[in-house]
Amino acid sequence: MLVIGGGTFGLFTALTLADRGAEVILIDRGGVWREASSVNAGSLGVQNKLPALVPYTLWAWELWLGLEARLGCNLDVRRNGGYKVATTEDEAQRLKTVAAEQEARGLTVSHLCGDDIRREAPWLGDCVVAATYSPDDGYASPTLLGPALRRAVEDGGVTVVEHGDVVSLSAGSRPRVETSAGAFEADAVAITAGAWSGQLAMMVGAILPVTLDVNMVSVTERAPTTIPKIVTHARGILTLKQVANMSCLIGGGWQGIGTLSDSRKEIDYDQLVHNLRLAQRVIPGLARLNVVRSWAGYEGVTPDSLPYLGRLPGQPNVYCGACARGGFTLGPLMGRLLGELIADGITSRPIDLFDPGRFMSGH
Ligand SMILES: Cc1cc2nc3c(=O)[nH]c(=O)nc-3n(C[C@H](O)[C@H](O)[C@H](O)COP(=O)(O)OP(=O)(O)OC[C@H]3O[C@@H](n4cnc5c(N)ncnc54)[C@H](O)[C@@H]3O)c2cc1C
Repeated sequence: MLVIGGGTFGLFTALTLADRGAEVILIDRGGVWREASSVNAGSLGVQNKLPALVPYTLWAWELWLGLEARLGCNLDVRRNGGYKVATTEDEAQRLKTVAAEQEARGLTVSHLCGDDIRREAPWLGDCVVAATYSPDDGYASPTLLGPALRRAVEDGGVTVVEHGDVVSLSAGSRPRVETSAGAFEADAVAITAGAWSGQLAMMVGAILPVTLDVNMVSVTERAPTTIPKIVTHARGILTLKQVANMSCLIGGGWQGIGTLSDSRKEIDYDQLVHNLRLAQRVIPGLARLNVVRSWAGYEGVTPDSLPYLGRLPGQPNVYCGACARGGFTLGPLMGRLLGELIADGITSRPIDLFDPGRFMSGH
């Protein structure tokens, strides 16, 4: 098997295949774990998922909770709950509507307003007029997961090829890739190349629409407890958490600058100021902390914000797993399901929603 892309999707796919005894070559154009999977904010959020993805996030949690034992190391996995907040009446209405749809898919939340919020979470600002609380929000460390996962796949016999930019892919009974590190062929190939997956699929004539988000994240100096629980926002414009080393991470999908063709991933300071101001309003305790670093990374987005996971249309040996909104959370599950599909021909969870051909006419 060839797996193209060494982020969370590719590494978990490779691990699943190796566990089933497959011979796997994982190829990355740069180093493994250098793109979205390494620069993300580490939220393992349920409340910030589309309702259709709620069951998948809860299934992913089952895998996350066993991952430290499976990989034999600490990953700072914390499932300590989180608040999703609203700061206007419109947002409060939206919070309620989305929560109802998520609850219908298995999410458990409690609804809070006014005095409940002040009593339960006095560290939230007065601007917060309504909130939902879920015990199923949490986080883990991307910095710890990457090296551990790489070690596990290599221990499982996977050959990791770095600096192997795939420049051509031909399908057929025995797919073959040409890369800057040589040519490789195998029975099947999995495209797990994140935001670049559309470009790779195009090499075999499959159209997988992908647009690009350039997400920004900031980290503060270490501080006494300031964010006891994860915080997200009714409009999806804020993620806040305090991680194990006590620094606070501030994100929320505010957009930086860059495109796949120019390879820029830069901070847009106007956007960043809005992100930081909102963070301070929602958690006033953040105002006394210095931001020590901000960065940006690429996230591929599909037209319906659901991932691509499955076989490419008309290509019996070419598979794709990519572009999940919240793909760090979902990565262990998505990689598991793709590996199962390739090795066993069936998956332990339904994947019809994620058909990579769903935007191709005539499919
Ligand atoms: C700043 C930021 C914050 C985020 N925060 C969160 C969060 O808090 N929680 C959450 O759940 N999700 C978050 N996400 C989303 C999450 O990080 C991604 O959905 C997930 O990591 C995608 O994993 P991936 O393996 O699909 O892609 P990637 O990690 O991007 O890996 C793709 C790999 O493919 C390789 N590749 C590309 N083209 C080629 C080629 N031609 N040949 C060979 N290799 C190739 C790349 O080099 C790369 O290593 C965030 C994303 C960003 C950018």
